[in-house]
Amino acid sequence: MPELPEVETIRLGLQKYIVGKTIKDVEVRLKKIVSGDPKDIIGAKVVDVRRFGKGLVIDLDNGYSITSHIKLTGQFVYRDSKTAKFKISPKVGKEIPNKFTHVIFKLDNGIVYYNDVRQFGWIKIIQSSKLKDQSFFNELGPEFFKDLTFDKFLETISRAKGPIKPLLMDQKKMSGVGNIYANDALFDAKIDPRRSAKQISDEEIKKLYNAILKVLKKGLEQGGASELNYVNVLGQEGGYQNHFLVYGREKEPCRVCKTPIQKIKLGGRGTYFCSKCQK
Ligand SMILES: [Zn+2]
Repeated sequence: MPELPEVETIRLGLQKYIVGKTIKDVEVRLKKIVSGDPKDIIGAKVVDVRRFGKGLVIDLDNGYSITSHIKLTGQFVYRDSKTAKFKISPKVGKEIPNKFTHVIFKLDNGIVYYNDVRQFGWIKIIQSSKLKDQSFFNELGPEFFKDLTFDKFLETISRAKGPIKPLLMDQKKMSGVGNIYANDALFDAKIDPRRSAKQISDEEIKKLYNAILKVLKKGLEQGGASELNYVNVLGQEGGYQNHFLVYGREKEPCRVCKTPIQKIKLGGRGTYFCSKCQK
């Protein structure tokens, strides 16, 4: 699932291409993706694009916002006369729109397509002032690079029950990290993902905090990781999948000691680690 670096890459793209543009029309091809009334946003101009955890918020100048979570396979792809010449990834499809295009936002100059193969994503049209009434935004925990300070992180981990890895991915406790970056950060910090959070020393928690910031930054620099259907707003893939430390590398040699990477299930999610480097 897209995580902070992927959703932030989409946000930066939307910010670059759609701020200042007016929504001329909205075509909803698959009703279940959209809630709220598309008529409320027609004629409004985009003033900002914000991100909260893995959620996106497109603010308009008429007091409404478009909120969205792309979940597993959602894509926002922007096209106009200038960007139409850029090659799109096969992850988008041969052409756009296609059968996975469920919502089309027509702007005064350009079009935003929302594609979603698995259809788990959502788009909600709400009054901007009611953002925090939405359970997704209301329940989000503090976020790396924003309000999740080291002290808060330390406190959350030392009070938690259960193994460390699922805790890092619990969006209500801390937001932005999912399976890819949790696996890679634990490897970088040399911590076994199965260890009880409570038993991790303060010094190790410091290493882990820095490791999370480091892998998220690397993910951002690479424009995200394109596993599943993730693409940026130009329909292009990211590059972090070429730099995975342990994620998705079962049986491949550890990048530090060459021991084959192990894969187990932890909290229902594929968990990758080096049994020699991570203790
Ligand atoms: Zn190793």
